[in-house]
Amino acid sequence: MAIFKPGISQARAAAIERLLSTMLLLMLLLPTALGADDALFQTSTINALMMGDFYGSMSLKELKSHGDFGLGTLDRLDGELVGLDGEFYQVKSDGNVYPVNDTATTPFAEVAFFKAEDNISLNGTYNLTQIESYLDSKRPTRNIFYAIRIDGIFEYVKTRVPEAQREPYPRLTEALGTQKIFQFNNTTGTVIGFWWPSYAEGINVPGYHLHFITGNRSAGGHLLDIRLHRATVAIDELTELDMALPNDKAFYQADLSEDQQAAVRKAESNPK
Ligand code: ZN
Repeated sequence: MAIFKPGISQARAAAIERLLSTMLLLMLLLPTALGADDALFQTSTINALMMGDFYGSMSLKELKSHGDFGLGTLDRLDGELVGLDGEFYQVKSDGNVYPVNDTATTPFAEVAFFKAEDNISLNGTYNLTQIESYLDSKRPTRNIFYAIRIDGIFEYVKTRVPEAQREPYPRLTEALGTQKIFQFNNTTGTVIGFWWPSYAEGINVPGYHLHFITGNRSAGGHLLDIRLHRATVAIDELTELDMALPNDKAFYQADLSEDQQAAVRKAESNPK
């Protein structure tokens, strides 16, 4: 016993130590986690991107500190950014998906720590307009922000990906003249996106802005059209907005006073 006892108390001491350090860690993490829970973070503004400010101004490392879920683009408008479960992917105009490292930069992105209030099963065939009307019916108010995640099986998906641009950068609508269109049939995947109220005009895209990535993370892009077969829809209500503005010449000199609404709608929607 004399040999055994100290072994037990040592184990207990170790257990208590582990418990204390876990508690300390939780105490340190909790305020950040609570603060960030319902916050939507974005860097730069949609109008700056519309005017051709494609200069990466925030590192992915910093962006990821504000959320584990989101979308945007990368320096030089080099593809579409998709963030899901803490992993960030770059869908390039060659159609392939690349992991994004922390030193990569983004000119425009929005992220949140995704935590769904609601998980809803959706069965049946829904096109994009029908999915959007369905999501509309689930929104308790039009005056806050929403993060939306749809995991499922899709009969059809149509995406677009812009090509990387060269300086001097053109306006976004012109840059999208060479965007690549991708179409997929019968694929699993995830739709990632946000809904912004109309008063967000100039800052972000009012209404829905959705990106897509396949289940095997091999393809995706900015969502133009979709036909859903079976899915789980998760919605996260966001009631805080945190914005970071680029501290550089391109942003400081961009004319952000122009009304870009018609151009934003054209840039974001399915080209007919
Ligand atoms: Zn997009």
